[in-house]
Amino acid sequence: MFEYAPAPESRAIVDIKPSYGLFIDGEFVDGSGTAFKTVNPANEEVLAEVAEASDADVDAAVRAARRAYTRVWSRMSGAERAKYLYRIARIIQERGRELAVLESIDNGKPIRESRDVDVPSLAAHFFYYAGWADKLKYSGYGSTPLGVAGQVIPWNFPLMMLAWKIAPALACGNTVVLKPAETTPLTALLFAEICQQADLPPGVVNIVTGAGDTGRALVSHPDVDKVAFTGSTEVGKAIARAVAGTDKKVTLELGGKAANIVFEDAPIDQAVEGIVNGIFFNQGHVCCAGSRLLVQESVADEVMARLKRRMATLRVGDPLDKNTDVGAINSAEQLAKIRELSEVGESEGAERWSAPCELPAHGYWFAPTVFTGVTQAHRIAREEIFGPVLSVLTFRTPSEAVEKANNTPFGLSAGVWTDKGSLILSMANHLRAGVVWANTFNKFDPTSPFGGYKESGYGREGGRHGLEAYLKGEDS
Ligand code: NAP
Ligand code: MG
Repeated sequence: MFEYAPAPESRAIVDIKPSYGLFIDGEFVDGSGTAFKTVNPANEEVLAEVAEASDADVDAAVRAARRAYTRVWSRMSGAERAKYLYRIARIIQERGRELAVLESIDNGKPIRESRDVDVPSLAAHFFYYAGWADKLKYSGYGSTPLGVAGQVIPWNFPLMMLAWKIAPALACGNTVVLKPAETTPLTALLFAEICQQADLPPGVVNIVTGAGDTGRALVSHPDVDKVAFTGSTEVGKAIARAVAGTDKKVTLELGGKAANIVFEDAPIDQAVEGIVNGIFFNQGHVCCAGSRLLVQESVADEVMARLKRRMATLRVGDPLDKNTDVGAINSAEQLAKIRELSEVGESEGAERWSAPCELPAHGYWFAPTVFTGVTQAHRIAREEIFGPVLSVLTFRTPSEAVEKANNTPFGLSAGVWTDKGSLILSMANHLRAGVVWANTFNKFDPTSPFGGYKESGYGREGGRHGLEAYLKGEDS
């Protein structure tokens, strides 16, 4: 085993304030509710106090968004709107290191990922949708915006989820009120500063921080025309009930339990990298994580041996260290959920193996873990764990693989590893998943639509398809 010298990224570039207000109508204002604390999950350090938006604050934000929509943003030409989006994208690139460091501090993800994936993808989404702003008449969905969008996002990819929500909404001429997750509010507030720096007209983007009640107030506000939510299936269902019978348009991006399917003719080392990337990227806090490994019986022993050897080399620890592969679990609550389901896995008879690694004394940590001998009835095979925990099942034939892969209430993504193009195509036709990756996993691009089937939600984000959620349609 190699020994690495620590290579921590400096946090001097970020200026974390002791307290933060809400971003409403282009300015930071005090909230009328009580403040809450956000912590660094890698060491439990309290980072800042953040205002909790009350119903009245949410109402003020929605009214600001309505004024900006009616008076400025919906009247502006697409080419003018595009200039703002391009400007925001450029500032994101200029301040990329600051955004990446702050994201890693507030969320716990490795700097290597926030620097190389989250922030570049954030900028790419603004660049991509800037390009659409003056070409909406070619979108196939008309060019009339909906009005005010209320957007609620989770904590696993705070900046990336913000981009997926805000960039297409603004490009189409809508204004937004966005609620980040309670445990990861800081980068959304830094994004608010970037909006100021870009001279975005006041009220076009509003950020209301808070917990579930703030989200509930936002999605049920009568003057919100469009609700966009990413999060758990449970909350997604509650939101669907809350907006039923109103004129609001809704898109829901919910949970997943993806199958990563390895056939015997796959290049095994490459597949092992794909398995590791599929479940340990972002500590497994990924809606489309490859959390169920389906491996063909003839190569199961070999794949497991190589996988364990590779897992033993994963570096778990300080998210700001550039050598780190697996960072901290985002919150004590999430850690408790991961522990609970893992214990269920053991008590149901699956065999547990965790990578040998020393976990830091403070903060929220969970060693990369794999369960073998898992059956389809086990809870670890059915429920989303949303952590660095892989369940392994075996299969003999392609049709058995399809049947097992589709035996889930979810349908967000899947991976197929084989040397045969024909097998890839037939698997892709039979898998009930919004995205199927072939000989790769967790690849994202702003030009490509992403979204689920069944309990993974409805609507698509990204690409031309992502415009549909923010436009009135061809005939209006
Ligand atoms: P969550 O509990 O559903 O929370 C998501 C967001 O909704 C948070 O901002 C949350 O506030 C807020 N919220 C809670 N209750 C609400 C209510 N009644 N009305 C309106 N908003 C409410 O999800 P999570 O545990 O943070 O995130 C993990 C889940 O997100 C996983 O299931 C994952 O698969 C899913 N996810 C899906 C995608 C996708 O694209 N399909 C992408 C990423 C994640 P708080 O801050 O207080 O929690
Ligand atoms: Mg935090």
